[in-house]
Amino acid sequence: MSRFFRRPFVLKALLLAIALTMWSQNSSMPEPSVEPRNEGSARARKKRARVILLTLDGPVRDDIFSTERMPQLHATLKTRGVLLKARAASSMAMSLPGYQALAAGHATSCHDNECSRITDETLLEFLARSLVVPAEQVAVFASWSRLKRAVTSKDGAVFVDAPDDGLPQVGGPRWKNARFDSTTFDAAVAHWNQQKPRFLQISLLDTDEWAHAGFREEYEAALLAADAQIAHLLALVDALPDEERSLTTVLITSDHGRGHSNWREHGFFELGSRDIFLAAFGETVLHSAFDEKEVLQVDVRPTIERLFGFCTNERRVGGGGRPIEAITRDVACE
Ligand SMILES: [Zn+2]
Repeated sequence: MSRFFRRPFVLKALLLAIALTMWSQNSSMPEPSVEPRNEGSARARKKRARVILLTLDGPVRDDIFSTERMPQLHATLKTRGVLLKARAASSMAMSLPGYQALAAGHATSCHDNECSRITDETLLEFLARSLVVPAEQVAVFASWSRLKRAVTSKDGAVFVDAPDDGLPQVGGPRWKNARFDSTTFDAAVAHWNQQKPRFLQISLLDTDEWAHAGFREEYEAALLAADAQIAHLLALVDALPDEERSLTTVLITSDHGRGHSNWREHGFFELGSRDIFLAAFGETVLHSAFDEKEVLQVDVRPTIERLFGFCTNERRVGGGGRPIEAITRDVACE
């Protein structure tokens, strides 16, 4: 019998406990991830990843965080996805500067809704060129005609479906340069079903226009419609074959927020207008419903690039963003 076993029982138990603790700490390194994920290699992502980007126009951020206003979004967040606070890039907090910042990955020289077409190669153009796919595979459907000035710098490489500039039409909305969100959404879903695009952007408008008009009931109905559309998009993703679904991410954000003291307006003088949000659903997304950290509107582009396996682009000037950890986590890139 060794000297060890002749020691008093208490001491032996203590030594054993220490040894067991050290062993269990060692054997648990590296820590297993909370749930299995299929991130795919950078190459697999470049070949097969998909992203759907849905933008709502100027919703009140608190309304997005409200389970009453966005019931389906919040029901889904309980089991998957994350909802983050975000900050609009332009202090002017207008639509076109917001959409240009999303497409450029940094604030552009656009400060109002009258500015000219974006000059940078946009996110959509980068994807069409780098993934080497035809225009139909990188598609945008918009309710507002001016979105054309944000999503592409040139014609041809990207599929753009948006109304022309013009006065209100019979059967359409009472505001100019637009069509109803339901028309935009139906066209986008039809395109998804036919083409299964690698990148699909759907840009809605109704919430902003009803808010400007001061029609609270219609504004809330437009939010509920967007809420149902989010559920519809997630169902489309869930219907994909397993591997394709695991490489598909849905992002939802907005161009700007609305004034804290005046929900009808937004802009430089309306405090709170830069308060926006970013929701995300996908295999790599942190499944924690809410994350306190505020992210930036300009982070959306590099986040999407990373989801396609491209590394962060450090060359962008003017306060460019970076991939959002809660969404991309350790997605491989090259
Ligand atoms: Zn507006």
